Amino acid sequence: MSKKNVFSSREIIGSSRLRLPAVELTNRRSENFTLIELLVVISIVAILAGMLLPALNKARNTARAVACVNTIKQVGLAFAGYLGDHQDTFPPTQYGALDNLTSTFWFELVGLPMKRGIPGNAYKFQPNHMLQCPSMDLPAANIGNYDSIAYGYNQYPPGTGTWAFFTKTSLIKKPSRQLTHCCCWRETNVFSTVERRKGTYCLTYPQQAAFRHSRRSAALYLDGHAVLEEQQWLRLGKKANYPFNRGDGTTNTSTMTNAEWVRDTTISVLADFSPYQ
Ligand SMILES: [Zn+2]
Repeated sequence: MSKKNVFSSREIIGSSRLRLPAVELTNRRSENFTLIELLVVISIVAILAGMLLPALNKARNTARAVACVNTIKQVGLAFAGYLGDHQDTFPPTQYGALDNLTSTFWFELVGLPMKRGIPGNAYKFQPNHMLQCPSMDLPAANIGNYDSIAYGYNQYPPGTGTWAFFTKTSLIKKPSRQLTHCCCWRETNVFSTVERRKGTYCLTYPQQAAFRHSRRSAALYLDGHAVLEEQQWLRLGKKANYPFNRGDGTTNTSTMTNAEWVRDTTISVLADFSPYQ
């Protein structure tokens, strides 16, 4: 071994220090992205996001549908509590003056926590209260008023031939088929995107059954069970067991003068669910 090949430790350290900047410079160059590489990464991220977002939207909509069914189930528990305390008679939709300013609504009668934003003003409930459907697209002007209530109370029990007010539940032959509430929009007979963004506390027409949850509606029955229902059942049904039908197949003129819920032959299956496709 020649003397030239023998290095002291000091010389090795010294030479490392000399080489280090050159090595770092080389690595730094190799870590830099070119514009094309950056664009490729961005497009891959965009493609992945595009693939995942529909799945995330579907999961969100499913979660909202489940939340809506849970809420209407809570309505059912409160409703059952009221029936138990009042000799099994249905509560009125609202009690007191019909101008909505001083009346007490069914959800207050059954003890659901609906604090009034302005005492004595029935138009103003707390915003984001429990009776809003999570899939509602409520117009700002209706936040906190009675149109923010998504769960309409079916006022016409089949088989009774009368309003639900103070009617005995024992008159209902099939409680599991008696719709008491469902997720509702404000619409009556005429399609209206704006009215479908609102709700109603008072289910007066079959057309008010809302289909915000992948074309299904949360429905509550007198026996307390709550499910997501298809429109074929809620809007059309069959004569014998239509949830609004007292069973004689008479055509409802969809006016308040006909106080009995019967099959409305003018109702058809919805083709347009706007804005809730
Ligand atoms: Zn809903």
